[in-house]
Amino acid sequence: MKKTSLENWIFKKIGSRDIEDYQLRKLKENINYVKNNSRFYKEQLRYINENDINSFEDFEKVPFTTAEDIKDNPLRFLCVSQQYISRIVSLNTSGTTGKSKRIFFTEEDQELTIDFFKEGMKDIVNSNDRVLILLPGEISGSVGDLLKKALSRINVESYIQGPIKDVKKVSNIIKLKNINSLVGIPVQVLSLSRKEKEVFSNSIEKVLLSTDYVPNALIEELTDSGNCKVFTHYGMTEMGLGGGVECESLKGYHLREADLYFEVVSPTTGRKVKDGEYGEIVFTTLTRKGMPLIRYRTGDKGRFSAKACDCGTVLRTMDRILGRIENKVEIYDGNFLNMRDIDENLIKIKEIMNYEVSVMDNSKSQIYNKKEGKLYNYRENNIEEKSELVITAYVSKENFEVVKDEIVRNLNQIPVISKSIKKGILEIKILLPDREKESGNGTLKRRIYDYRREYEG
Ligand SMILES: [Zn+2]
Repeated sequence: MKKTSLENWIFKKIGSRDIEDYQLRKLKENINYVKNNSRFYKEQLRYINENDINSFEDFEKVPFTTAEDIKDNPLRFLCVSQQYISRIVSLNTSGTTGKSKRIFFTEEDQELTIDFFKEGMKDIVNSNDRVLILLPGEISGSVGDLLKKALSRINVESYIQGPIKDVKKVSNIIKLKNINSLVGIPVQVLSLSRKEKEVFSNSIEKVLLSTDYVPNALIEELTDSGNCKVFTHYGMTEMGLGGGVECESLKGYHLREADLYFEVVSPTTGRKVKDGEYGEIVFTTLTRKGMPLIRYRTGDKGRFSAKACDCGTVLRTMDRILGRIENKVEIYDGNFLNMRDIDENLIKIKEIMNYEVSVMDNSKSQIYNKKEGKLYNYRENNIEEKSELVITAYVSKENFEVVKDEIVRNLNQIPVISKSIKKGILEIKILLPDREKESGNGTLKRRIYDYRREYEG
């Protein structure tokens, strides 16, 4: 097995083999840099002195930065004058506050990302491969654009197609351009492999999945459906798009440790957890110039592997992330339903191309009492309120009835669901979407929508 290319790249970049020494030095330097240049950190780190940071334990005293902090006033984070900003990314925010999370990059910041992509891709493709990029790539500085630039530096031919809108079209391009490798969004690539089975299994040898966490069931199916090796990448815009990528052993990511310092902390106490224990992933940029971030809480659930990677690297390995910590809803008394559990159980159903998940509250619905000829709503009539788990399944009409039963059966494999149904506090409802939509919901992260009312008292 080939050792991750990232190891040598990092040693070369930092000019030594002592990553910890380098990272600690950079953390101190960076604290000094942001305190002098960013209005936000000048205030936020007013009690922190870089000379007091002499170990990673000391660094744990530094306060976290949150997504809210950025939304409140992104410009306050800038460390350079706006004329040096070459790319601004506005991230969709789900709330109605209208505040958007904007992330700024200089030319130099983007160059660091290209360099990481280049090195990470070396373990996946070589100059004999032809890559189709199914990620946004029209705009200069977008993830697809930077990836294409990176690939051209290692002489790999690539084409930017963008997120999949038309499966047939993508399938034709695969044939026409003799594509053997894909980089794309997990559910979209799965859907492509199902709809264009033959083309996929005959052509695609390597897949790199990005932009969302990847259910194991999805990786298993893709791997089985062709002679396909499936790699995953972890990154987010705040990280500078790239964060970590899997090596040939396919057991978790090696990280961009020359540019980023990662920690895993308890989401409740904020204290660092041990390797092998799950927590929230937190990172600090070490080389970013435009908008450095210090101890940024990603909201992603993950852990460092306690074991060394099979590829023999001295780099740390982060297990595949499990998705957003908040991507769950409470069904009853501290019992949560995770999107991940739903995905692991529903992805297996081959007829479904995608689905949306929401939880409703049936207290708003009314029941009709025939005898009295009156409408009651659940609450007035003292009928116990139930939650309704609504799955909108993207499936053909002729398959719907069969698939419906399968969905219910698979959902019942999830303990919190089967228990809640037994208790009489949860019902499952399976719907077809209102109108035909293409599979995949673009680059949006998959989540459970909770439409239940908040009760007071
Ligand atoms: Zn490895």
